[in-house]
Amino acid sequence: MNNRNVSSPFTRPVWAEISRARLLHNFSMLQQLASPDIRLAAVVKANAYGHGATLCAPWLAAAGAEWLGVTSVEEGVAVRAVCATQRILVMSGLWQGEAEAVLEHCLTPVVWEPFHLDLLARAARQAKLPPQALPVHLEIDTGMSRQGAAHGGLLEELLRRLREEPDSPLLIEGVLTHFHSPDELDSPVTAAQIAAFATAVDTIAAAGLAPALLHAGNSTSLLTGHGLDALRALAARHHAQLMLRPGLALYGYTPQAGGSVSEREEQSPRLKAEGYGLQPAHSHSLRGGASALEGFQPVLSLKSRIVSLRTIAAGATAGYNGTFRAARSTRLALLPIGYADGLSRLLSGRGHVLVRGHRAPIAGRISMDQTILDVSGIPEAAIGDEAVLLGEQGNDRITAEDLAALCQTIPWEILTSIAARVPRVAVD
Ligand SMILES: *Cc1c(COP(=O)(O)O)cnc(C)c1O
Repeated sequence: MNNRNVSSPFTRPVWAEISRARLLHNFSMLQQLASPDIRLAAVVKANAYGHGATLCAPWLAAAGAEWLGVTSVEEGVAVRAVCATQRILVMSGLWQGEAEAVLEHCLTPVVWEPFHLDLLARAARQAKLPPQALPVHLEIDTGMSRQGAAHGGLLEELLRRLREEPDSPLLIEGVLTHFHSPDELDSPVTAAQIAAFATAVDTIAAAGLAPALLHAGNSTSLLTGHGLDALRALAARHHAQLMLRPGLALYGYTPQAGGSVSEREEQSPRLKAEGYGLQPAHSHSLRGGASALEGFQPVLSLKSRIVSLRTIAAGATAGYNGTFRAARSTRLALLPIGYADGLSRLLSGRGHVLVRGHRAPIAGRISMDQTILDVSGIPEAAIGDEAVLLGEQGNDRITAEDLAALCQTIPWEILTSIAARVPRVAVD
Protein backbone atom coordinates (compact mmCIF):
# COMPACT_ATOMS: atom_id res chain seq x y z
CA MET A 1 0.00 0.00 0.00
CA ASN A 2 2.96 2.34 -0.06
CA ASN A 3 3.34 4.71 -2.96
CA ARG A 4 5.87 2.85 -5.06
CA ASN A 5 8.15 4.54 -7.57
CA VAL A 6 7.96 7.87 -5.87
CA SER A 7 10.67 9.81 -4.20
CA SER A 8 9.01 12.83 -2.62
CA PRO A 9 7.64 12.54 0.90
CA PHE A 10 3.88 12.68 0.60
CA THR A 11 1.46 10.53 2.53
CA ARG A 12 -2.04 11.22 1.19
CA PRO A 13 -2.45 8.77 -1.71
CA VAL A 14 -3.06 11.37 -4.40
CA TRP A 15 -0.23 12.23 -6.78
CA ALA A 16 0.70 13.14 -10.35
CA GLU A 17 3.48 11.15 -12.00
CA ILE A 18 5.56 13.14 -14.47
CA SER A 19 7.53 11.11 -17.01
CA ARG A 20 10.87 12.68 -17.85
CA ALA A 21 11.43 10.14 -20.62
CA ARG A 22 8.17 11.06 -22.33
CA LEU A 23 8.72 14.80 -22.02
CA LEU A 24 12.15 14.45 -23.60
CA HIS A 25 10.77 12.14 -26.31
CA ASN A 26 8.14 14.76 -27.21
CA PHE A 27 10.72 17.55 -27.13
CA SER A 28 13.00 15.60 -29.40
CA MET A 29 10.14 15.06 -31.89
CA LEU A 30 9.52 18.82 -31.91
CA GLN A 31 13.24 19.50 -32.37
CA GLN A 32 13.24 17.20 -35.41
CA LEU A 33 10.25 19.02 -36.90
CA ALA A 34 11.97 22.37 -36.33
CA SER A 35 15.29 21.25 -37.72
CA PRO A 36 17.41 22.64 -39.19
CA ASP A 37 16.46 26.30 -39.31
CA ILE A 38 13.72 26.93 -36.72
CA ARG A 39 14.50 27.65 -33.09
CA LEU A 40 12.16 26.62 -30.31
CA ALA A 41 10.92 28.28 -27.16
CA ALA A 42 9.69 25.43 -24.95
CA VAL A 43 6.61 26.79 -23.20
CA VAL A 44 6.60 25.98 -19.48
CA LYS A 45 4.03 28.57 -18.39
CA ALA A 46 1.32 27.77 -15.85
CA ASN A 47 3.65 25.47 -13.92
CA ALA A 48 4.56 23.64 -17.14
CA TYR A 49 0.88 23.10 -17.99
CA GLY A 50 0.37 21.64 -14.52
CA HIS A 51 3.33 19.25 -14.80
CA GLY A 52 5.64 21.18 -12.46
CA ALA A 53 7.90 23.83 -13.98
CA THR A 54 10.77 23.21 -11.57
CA LEU A 55 10.79 19.54 -12.65
CA CYS A 56 10.27 20.03 -16.38
CA ALA A 57 12.30 23.17 -17.14
CA PRO A 58 15.66 21.70 -16.01
CA TRP A 59 14.96 18.48 -17.95
CA LEU A 60 14.26 20.48 -21.10
CA ALA A 61 17.30 22.67 -20.47
CA ALA A 62 19.53 19.60 -20.13
CA ALA A 63 18.08 18.29 -23.40
CA GLY A 64 19.13 21.47 -25.19
CA ALA A 65 16.22 23.88 -24.80
CA GLU A 66 17.67 27.30 -25.43
CA TRP A 67 14.54 29.33 -24.70
CA LEU A 68 11.84 28.67 -22.08
CA GLY A 69 8.50 30.49 -22.24
CA VAL A 70 6.70 31.51 -19.04
CA THR A 71 3.72 33.76 -18.53
CA SER A 72 4.79 36.11 -15.73
CA VAL A 73 7.83 37.57 -14.03
CA GLU A 74 6.99 35.44 -10.97
CA GLU A 75 7.09 32.28 -13.07
CA GLY A 76 10.32 33.48 -14.69
CA VAL A 77 11.99 33.96 -11.31
CA ALA A 78 10.95 30.43 -10.27
CA VAL A 79 12.34 28.92 -13.49
CA ARG A 80 15.55 30.97 -13.25
CA ALA A 81 16.20 29.39 -9.84
CA VAL A 82 16.51 25.98 -11.55
CA CYS A 83 17.83 27.02 -15.01
CA ALA A 84 20.87 29.25 -14.73
CA THR A 85 21.78 29.84 -18.37
CA GLN A 86 18.66 29.43 -20.52
CA ARG A 87 16.88 32.43 -21.99
CA ILE A 88 13.51 32.93 -20.27
CA LEU A 89 10.79 34.69 -22.26
CA VAL A 90 8.08 36.34 -20.13
CA MET A 91 5.17 36.19 -22.55
CA SER A 92 2.42 38.23 -20.87
CA GLY A 93 4.17 41.54 -20.25
CA LEU A 94 5.10 42.99 -16.88
CA TRP A 95 3.59 45.08 -14.14
CA GLN A 96 4.72 47.80 -11.75
CA GLY A 97 7.41 46.62 -9.35
CA GLU A 98 8.56 43.79 -11.64
CA ALA A 99 11.22 45.48 -13.80
CA GLU A 100 13.92 45.08 -11.14
CA ALA A 101 13.32 41.30 -11.03
CA VAL A 102 13.51 41.20 -14.85
CA LEU A 103 17.02 42.65 -14.61
CA GLU A 104 18.14 40.73 -11.55
CA HIS A 105 17.07 37.36 -12.99
CA CYS A 106 17.97 38.10 -16.64
CA LEU A 107 14.43 37.56 -17.90
CA THR A 108 13.42 38.62 -21.40
CA PRO A 109 10.06 40.39 -21.34
CA VAL A 110 7.53 40.61 -24.12
CA VAL A 111 6.51 44.30 -24.31
CA TRP A 112 3.85 46.31 -26.11
CA GLU A 113 2.47 48.99 -23.76
CA PRO A 114 4.51 52.21 -23.57
CA PHE A 115 4.57 51.80 -19.78
CA HIS A 116 6.44 48.51 -20.21
CA LEU A 117 9.27 50.46 -21.88
CA ASP A 118 9.16 53.12 -19.14
CA LEU A 119 9.37 50.59 -16.29
CA LEU A 120 12.24 48.71 -17.91
CA ALA A 121 14.20 51.79 -19.03
CA ARG A 122 13.98 53.31 -15.56
CA ALA A 123 15.17 50.14 -13.83
CA ALA A 124 17.95 49.66 -16.41
CA ARG A 125 19.21 53.24 -15.96
CA GLN A 126 19.17 52.81 -12.19
CA ALA A 127 21.25 49.67 -12.64
CA LYS A 128 23.54 51.74 -14.93
CA LEU A 129 23.11 49.41 -17.88
CA PRO A 130 24.77 50.67 -21.08
CA PRO A 131 22.71 51.38 -24.23
CA GLN A 132 20.98 48.35 -25.78
CA ALA A 133 21.96 46.05 -22.92
CA LEU A 134 18.45 44.88 -21.99
CA PRO A 135 16.86 42.68 -24.66
CA VAL A 136 13.08 42.86 -25.03
CA HIS A 137 10.67 41.25 -27.49
CA LEU A 138 8.04 43.46 -29.08
CA GLU A 139 4.64 41.85 -29.62
CA ILE A 140 2.50 42.80 -32.61
CA ASP A 141 -1.27 42.37 -32.43
CA THR A 142 -2.25 40.83 -35.75
CA GLY A 143 -5.83 39.94 -34.90
CA MET A 144 -5.98 38.24 -31.52
CA SER A 145 -6.76 41.62 -29.89
CA ARG A 146 -5.42 40.32 -26.60
CA GLN A 147 -1.99 41.86 -26.26
CA GLY A 148 0.59 43.40 -28.57
CA ALA A 149 0.84 46.68 -30.43
CA ALA A 150 -1.41 47.06 -33.44
CA HIS A 151 0.25 48.32 -36.59
CA GLY A 152 -0.18 52.03 -37.02
CA GLY A 153 -1.17 53.24 -33.57
CA LEU A 154 0.75 51.79 -30.69
CA LEU A 155 3.57 50.47 -32.87
CA GLU A 156 4.29 53.97 -34.25
CA GLU A 157 4.28 55.33 -30.72
CA LEU A 158 6.76 52.68 -29.53
CA LEU A 159 9.05 53.26 -32.50
CA ARG A 160 8.92 57.03 -31.97
CA ARG A 161 10.02 56.58 -28.37
CA LEU A 162 12.90 54.32 -29.31
CA ARG A 163 13.96 56.79 -32.03
CA GLU A 164 13.90 59.70 -29.61
CA GLU A 165 16.10 57.82 -27.18
CA PRO A 166 19.06 56.57 -29.21
CA ASP A 167 20.93 55.70 -26.00
CA SER A 168 18.02 53.64 -24.62
CA PRO A 169 19.16 50.67 -22.55
CA LEU A 170 16.53 48.57 -24.34
CA LEU A 171 17.31 46.40 -27.36
CA ILE A 172 14.51 45.07 -29.59
CA GLU A 173 15.95 41.57 -29.88
CA GLY A 174 12.75 39.90 -31.01
CA VAL A 175 9.43 40.65 -32.64
CA LEU A 176 6.52 38.26 -32.21
CA THR A 177 2.85 37.69 -32.76
CA HIS A 178 0.32 35.04 -31.73
CA PHE A 179 -2.09 33.19 -34.03
CA HIS A 180 -5.66 32.83 -32.83
CA SER A 181 -6.76 29.92 -35.06
CA PRO A 182 -3.70 27.89 -36.04
CA ASP A 183 -5.84 24.72 -36.05
CA GLU A 184 -8.15 25.96 -38.82
CA LEU A 185 -6.10 24.80 -41.76
CA ASP A 186 -8.49 25.85 -44.51
CA SER A 187 -9.16 29.24 -43.05
CA PRO A 188 -7.35 32.30 -44.42
CA VAL A 189 -7.01 33.94 -41.00
CA THR A 190 -3.49 32.72 -40.21
CA ALA A 191 -2.26 33.86 -43.62
CA ALA A 192 -3.83 37.27 -42.94
CA GLN A 193 -2.15 37.39 -39.54
CA ILE A 194 1.22 36.54 -41.10
CA ALA A 195 0.72 39.29 -43.70
CA ALA A 196 -0.05 41.81 -40.93
CA PHE A 197 3.00 40.59 -39.02
CA ALA A 198 5.17 41.06 -42.12
CA THR A 199 3.91 44.63 -42.56
CA ALA A 200 4.77 45.42 -38.93
CA VAL A 201 8.23 43.84 -39.20
CA ASP A 202 8.89 45.86 -42.38
CA THR A 203 7.91 49.04 -40.51
CA ILE A 204 10.22 48.14 -37.64
CA ALA A 205 13.09 47.50 -40.06
CA ALA A 206 12.38 50.78 -41.85
CA ALA A 207 12.77 52.50 -38.47
CA GLY A 208 16.34 51.19 -38.40
CA LEU A 209 15.80 48.32 -35.98
CA ALA A 210 17.06 44.84 -36.86
CA PRO A 211 15.49 42.23 -34.57
CA ALA A 212 17.54 39.03 -34.48
CA LEU A 213 14.52 36.82 -33.80
CA LEU A 214 11.03 36.70 -35.28
CA HIS A 215 8.58 34.37 -33.58
CA ALA A 216 5.01 33.16 -33.94
CA GLY A 217 3.14 29.89 -33.81
CA ASN A 218 2.39 27.24 -31.21
CA SER A 219 2.41 23.42 -31.17
CA THR A 220 -0.20 23.22 -33.91
CA SER A 221 1.81 25.52 -36.19
CA LEU A 222 4.89 23.35 -35.84
CA LEU A 223 3.00 20.06 -36.23
CA THR A 224 1.00 21.10 -39.25
CA GLY A 225 3.61 23.33 -40.84
CA HIS A 226 0.78 25.71 -41.70
CA GLY A 227 2.23 29.16 -42.44
CA LEU A 228 5.82 28.11 -41.87
CA ASP A 229 6.97 28.84 -45.42
CA ALA A 230 5.68 32.41 -45.19
CA LEU A 231 7.30 32.87 -41.78
CA ARG A 232 10.59 31.43 -43.06
CA ALA A 233 10.55 33.81 -46.01
CA LEU A 234 9.87 36.76 -43.71
CA ALA A 235 12.74 35.82 -41.41
CA ALA A 236 15.11 35.33 -44.36
CA ARG A 237 14.15 38.71 -45.82
CA HIS A 238 15.10 40.37 -42.52
CA HIS A 239 18.20 38.24 -41.85
CA ALA A 240 16.52 37.08 -38.65
CA GLN A 241 16.06 33.67 -37.07
CA LEU A 242 12.58 32.15 -36.97
CA MET A 243 11.39 30.78 -33.63
CA LEU A 244 8.21 28.84 -32.70
CA ARG A 245 6.71 28.42 -29.24
CA PRO A 246 5.26 24.92 -28.72
CA GLY A 247 3.59 24.14 -25.40
CA LEU A 248 0.91 21.45 -25.40
CA ALA A 249 2.76 19.01 -27.68
CA LEU A 250 5.66 18.91 -25.21
CA TYR A 251 3.26 17.35 -22.75
CA GLY A 252 2.10 14.75 -25.26
CA TYR A 253 -1.09 16.13 -26.74
CA THR A 254 -1.54 17.01 -30.41
CA PRO A 255 -4.30 18.52 -32.50
CA GLN A 256 -5.23 15.27 -34.23
CA ALA A 257 -5.80 13.60 -30.92
CA GLY A 258 -8.13 16.42 -29.96
CA GLY A 259 -5.69 19.06 -28.86
CA SER A 260 -7.45 21.94 -30.51
CA VAL A 261 -11.04 22.93 -30.27
CA SER A 262 -12.04 25.86 -32.39
CA GLU A 263 -15.07 27.88 -31.47
CA ARG A 264 -16.81 26.50 -34.53
CA GLU A 265 -16.36 22.97 -33.31
CA GLU A 266 -17.37 23.82 -29.78
CA GLN A 267 -20.62 25.16 -31.15
CA SER A 268 -21.30 22.29 -33.49
CA PRO A 269 -22.46 19.01 -31.96
CA ARG A 270 -22.00 17.31 -35.32
CA LEU A 271 -18.33 18.27 -35.66
CA LYS A 272 -17.87 17.45 -32.03
CA ALA A 273 -19.34 14.00 -32.55
CA GLU A 274 -16.94 13.49 -35.46
CA GLY A 275 -14.09 14.08 -33.05
CA TYR A 276 -12.70 17.53 -32.65
CA GLY A 277 -9.31 18.62 -33.82
CA LEU A 278 -7.98 18.22 -37.33
CA GLN A 279 -10.27 16.32 -39.64
CA PRO A 280 -8.92 13.56 -41.89
CA ALA A 281 -9.70 15.65 -44.97
CA HIS A 282 -6.95 17.97 -43.86
CA SER A 283 -4.28 15.36 -43.49
CA HIS A 284 -2.79 16.14 -46.91
CA SER A 285 -1.79 19.50 -45.42
CA LEU A 286 0.10 17.96 -42.54
CA ARG A 287 3.81 18.31 -42.56
CA GLY A 288 5.36 14.93 -43.24
CA GLY A 289 1.86 13.47 -43.51
CA ALA A 290 -0.35 12.63 -40.58
CA SER A 291 2.65 10.95 -38.97
CA ALA A 292 3.77 14.35 -37.69
CA LEU A 293 0.92 14.14 -35.21
CA GLU A 294 1.61 10.61 -34.05
CA GLY A 295 4.01 9.37 -31.46
CA PHE A 296 3.52 12.09 -28.88
CA GLN A 297 3.15 10.58 -25.42
CA PRO A 298 1.16 12.05 -22.52
CA VAL A 299 3.62 12.99 -19.79
CA LEU A 300 1.32 13.27 -16.78
CA SER A 301 -0.62 10.55 -14.94
CA LEU A 302 -2.98 11.44 -12.09
CA LYS A 303 -3.32 8.66 -9.54
CA SER A 304 -4.87 7.78 -6.22
CA ARG A 305 -5.70 4.65 -4.24
CA ILE A 306 -8.83 3.00 -2.90
CA VAL A 307 -8.96 3.89 0.81
CA SER A 308 -12.38 2.45 1.74
CA LEU A 309 -14.94 -0.02 0.36
CA ARG A 310 -18.59 -0.67 1.15
CA THR A 311 -21.60 -2.40 -0.37
CA ILE A 312 -24.92 -0.57 -0.45
CA ALA A 313 -28.34 -2.15 -0.93
CA ALA A 314 -30.64 -1.59 -3.89
CA GLY A 315 -32.34 1.78 -3.51
CA ALA A 316 -29.59 3.38 -1.38
CA THR A 317 -27.94 6.54 -2.68
CA ALA A 318 -24.34 7.77 -2.78
CA GLY A 319 -22.84 11.25 -2.52
CA TYR A 320 -24.29 14.74 -2.18
CA ASN A 321 -27.95 15.06 -3.15
CA GLY A 322 -28.15 11.32 -3.69
CA THR A 323 -27.78 11.64 -7.46
CA PHE A 324 -26.50 8.05 -7.62
CA ARG A 325 -29.13 5.47 -6.63
CA ALA A 326 -28.17 1.80 -6.56
CA ALA A 327 -30.37 -0.30 -8.87
CA ARG A 328 -29.10 -3.44 -7.14
CA SER A 329 -26.65 -4.32 -4.41
CA THR A 330 -23.63 -2.15 -5.35
CA ARG A 331 -20.01 -2.13 -4.24
CA LEU A 332 -18.53 1.34 -3.83
CA ALA A 333 -14.89 2.36 -3.50
CA LEU A 334 -13.69 5.65 -2.02
CA LEU A 335 -10.82 7.71 -3.48
CA PRO A 336 -9.35 10.59 -1.42
CA ILE A 337 -9.30 12.95 -4.44
CA GLY A 338 -11.92 15.56 -5.24
CA TYR A 339 -12.59 18.75 -7.11
CA ALA A 340 -10.18 20.66 -4.85
CA ASP A 341 -7.47 18.51 -6.44
CA GLY A 342 -8.58 19.60 -9.90
CA LEU A 343 -10.90 16.68 -10.69
CA SER A 344 -13.70 18.62 -12.33
CA ARG A 345 -17.09 18.28 -10.68
CA LEU A 346 -18.48 18.06 -14.23
CA LEU A 347 -17.22 14.45 -14.24
CA SER A 348 -19.75 13.57 -11.51
CA GLY A 349 -21.77 10.55 -12.64
CA ARG A 350 -20.06 10.71 -16.08
CA GLY A 351 -16.36 10.00 -15.80
CA HIS A 352 -14.48 6.75 -15.24
CA VAL A 353 -11.40 5.75 -13.28
CA LEU A 354 -9.14 2.77 -14.05
CA VAL A 355 -8.94 0.12 -11.32
CA ARG A 356 -7.21 -3.22 -11.98
CA GLY A 357 -7.25 -2.37 -15.68
CA HIS A 358 -11.03 -1.88 -15.79
CA ARG A 359 -13.14 1.28 -16.04
CA ALA A 360 -15.04 2.02 -12.84
CA PRO A 361 -17.78 4.66 -13.23
CA ILE A 362 -17.74 7.69 -10.94
CA ALA A 363 -20.85 7.24 -8.76
CA GLY A 364 -22.74 10.43 -7.95
CA ARG A 365 -21.27 13.83 -7.23
CA ILE A 366 -17.57 14.41 -6.85
CA SER A 367 -16.94 15.99 -3.42
CA MET A 368 -14.33 18.59 -2.59
CA ASP A 369 -11.85 16.00 -1.36
CA GLN A 370 -13.37 12.63 -2.22
CA THR A 371 -14.80 10.64 -5.10
CA ILE A 372 -16.93 7.48 -5.00
CA LEU A 373 -16.54 4.76 -7.66
CA ASP A 374 -18.94 1.96 -8.56
CA VAL A 375 -16.64 -1.09 -8.52
CA SER A 376 -19.43 -3.69 -8.74
CA GLY A 377 -17.89 -4.84 -12.05
CA ILE A 378 -14.46 -5.34 -10.45
CA PRO A 379 -15.04 -7.87 -7.65
CA GLU A 380 -11.32 -8.17 -6.85
CA ALA A 381 -11.01 -4.42 -6.09
CA ALA A 382 -9.35 -3.97 -2.69
CA ILE A 383 -8.22 -1.27 -0.34
CA GLY A 384 -4.84 -0.01 -1.55
CA ASP A 385 -5.50 -0.59 -5.25
CA GLU A 386 -4.06 2.07 -7.50
CA ALA A 387 -6.72 4.16 -9.25
CA VAL A 388 -5.77 5.98 -12.45
CA LEU A 389 -7.75 9.15 -13.13
CA LEU A 390 -5.52 10.23 -16.01
CA GLY A 391 -3.04 7.86 -17.61
CA GLU A 392 -2.70 4.16 -18.39
CA GLN A 393 -3.45 0.94 -16.58
CA GLY A 394 -3.58 -2.53 -18.11
CA ASN A 395 -4.60 -2.07 -21.74
CA ASP A 396 -6.70 1.01 -21.14
CA ARG A 397 -5.96 4.70 -20.84
CA ILE A 398 -7.77 7.89 -19.92
CA THR A 399 -6.45 11.05 -21.57
CA ALA A 400 -6.85 14.75 -20.93
CA GLU A 401 -8.83 14.81 -24.18
CA ASP A 402 -11.30 12.25 -22.81
CA LEU A 403 -11.84 14.36 -19.71
CA ALA A 404 -11.98 17.57 -21.76
CA ALA A 405 -14.74 16.10 -23.95
CA LEU A 406 -16.79 15.20 -20.87
CA CYS A 407 -16.22 18.64 -19.34
CA GLN A 408 -16.77 20.56 -22.62
CA THR A 409 -13.37 22.12 -22.41
CA ILE A 410 -9.87 21.64 -23.84
CA PRO A 411 -6.93 19.50 -22.66
CA TRP A 412 -5.01 22.65 -21.68
CA GLU A 413 -7.61 23.40 -18.99
CA ILE A 414 -7.76 19.81 -17.70
CA LEU A 415 -3.97 19.72 -17.23
CA THR A 416 -3.59 23.19 -15.72
CA SER A 417 -6.48 22.58 -13.29
CA ILE A 418 -4.60 19.95 -11.31
CA ALA A 419 -4.25 21.64 -7.95
CA ALA A 420 -1.05 22.78 -6.28
CA ARG A 421 -1.70 20.41 -3.36
CA VAL A 422 -1.22 17.37 -5.64
CA PRO A 423 2.48 16.43 -5.45
CA ARG A 424 4.24 16.11 -8.80
CA VAL A 425 6.56 13.14 -8.78
CA ALA A 426 9.26 12.29 -11.33
CA VAL A 427 8.97 8.67 -12.46
CA ASP A 428 11.74 8.05 -14.99
C1 LIG B 1 0.59 29.24 -24.49
C2 LIG B 1 1.28 29.91 -25.61
C3 LIG B 1 1.94 29.16 -26.59
C4 LIG B 1 1.93 27.64 -26.63
O1 LIG B 1 0.70 27.18 -27.18
P1 LIG B 1 0.34 25.60 -27.35
O2 LIG B 1 -0.92 25.61 -28.11
O3 LIG B 1 0.17 25.06 -25.97
O4 LIG B 1 1.45 24.98 -28.08
C5 LIG B 1 2.65 29.85 -27.55
N1 LIG B 1 2.69 31.20 -27.57
C6 LIG B 1 2.05 31.94 -26.65
C7 LIG B 1 2.13 33.42 -26.72
C8 LIG B 1 1.31 31.33 -25.66
O5 LIG B 1 0.66 32.07 -24.76
